[in-house]
Amino acid sequence: MHDTNNIFAKIIRGEVPSSKVYEDDKILAFHDISKAAPIHVLVIPKGEYLDYSDFIAKASKEDVAHYFTKINEIASSLGLAEHGFRLCSNNGAKSGQSVFHFHTHILGGANFGGVV
Ligand code: 5GP
Repeated sequence: MHDTNNIFAKIIRGEVPSSKVYEDDKILAFHDISKAAPIHVLVIPKGEYLDYSDFIAKASKEDVAHYFTKINEIASSLGLAEHGFRLCSNNGAKSGQSVFHFHTHILGGANFGGVV
């Protein structure tokens, strides 16, 4: 079950500060506090979804489309369109997910090589 006191829910409510990159009524994007690449931004829906599977199962098609369309726009706004970027969503604890509010990592500014 989604915990309304998870760190990202607190960031959405403004209870915890974040370095915002983009915000609208449905999503928020902000810099990761612990960068895994020169550019590392997290994109989260404002709705209460545990992970990618939960988001796909419960969000409207419009909200899913909005989320992924905006990710591309945000990546472009970060200057990543030409060089390229990596998207990553850990889905469940065994995948490495540590914050149980669905999010996608935008990673850029480096040459990543293989899948992991
Ligand atoms: P996950 O491991 O769940 O895929 O990714 C969670 C991410 O959230 C990690 O990369 C971690 O650095 C980031 N994170 C955790 N707490 C905070 C925080 O308070 N602020 C920000 N900006 N990022 C956080």
